[in-house]
Amino acid sequence: MKVLVPVKRVVDFNVKVRVKADQTGVDFANLKMSMNPFDEIAVEEAVRLKEKGKATEIIAVSIGPAQAAETIRTALAMGADRGILVKTDGEVEPLAVAKILKAIVAEEQPQLVITGKQAIDDDSNQTGQMLAALLGWGQGTFAHKLELDGNSAKIEREIDGGLQTVEVKLPAVMTTDLRLNEPRYASLPNIMKAKKKPIAEKTPADYGVDPTPRLKVLKVSEPAKRAAGVKVKSVAELLDKLKNEAGVL
Ligand code: AMP
Repeated sequence: MKVLVPVKRVVDFNVKVRVKADQTGVDFANLKMSMNPFDEIAVEEAVRLKEKGKATEIIAVSIGPAQAAETIRTALAMGADRGILVKTDGEVEPLAVAKILKAIVAEEQPQLVITGKQAIDDDSNQTGQMLAALLGWGQGTFAHKLELDGNSAKIEREIDGGLQTVEVKLPAVMTTDLRLNEPRYASLPNIMKAKKKPIAEKTPADYGVDPTPRLKVLKVSEPAKRAAGVKVKSVAELLDKLKNEAGVL
């Protein structure tokens, strides 16, 4: 069984991003970029399936600039077998990503596509769902646990206040949530081995997809600054403030 794992190159989650002065977007100049954290979880899950003998090949796909090859290398160092880099400059919206992935699925015929639940740069939470819809496949989103059973998969999903278990027929799309697993660090020998694994280079045109954005960002702003707190001298004063100022009691 082949598993396809889309991996996006995003600003590292530890970096505090700044909005550009003209509010047209975020300033990405000289920022550390990494694999989207939910995609690391997706790669880890695919590698575990391979280790259990359930997956035979893992293909990592990234759609983005030439440097997205580094993101694919990280996936290869974690245990993916080969990569596909679909080179584009500029922002690619989830629908275009899903269309490109659909064409790759048609070529590669994976039984399972594991995407992250959301990319931490655009916070769209759309690509996996759109891909499942375009393919006419079932989907298990926000996955907390995966069990493969012949031609179907049992997926435990994180929902508000609890878990929901669904069964989907394969082929299917699954999107990862935070608690599905803890991704491994690539070992040095595996980083060296990854350098020899193949990465095919493509363009959106190779898949008949026009990646021109359909949305125009009108404005990006920083979150409102929080007001400073106050120190109270007694419990009575605290209760008074909660009752009469905050209005929460
Ligand atoms: P989004 O819908 O943008 O929040 O992204 C959800 C997931 O789709 C990500 O976690 C990735 O697995 C995948 N994805 C989105 N954009 C890309 C991209 N440019 N290249 C590869 N995978 C992507």
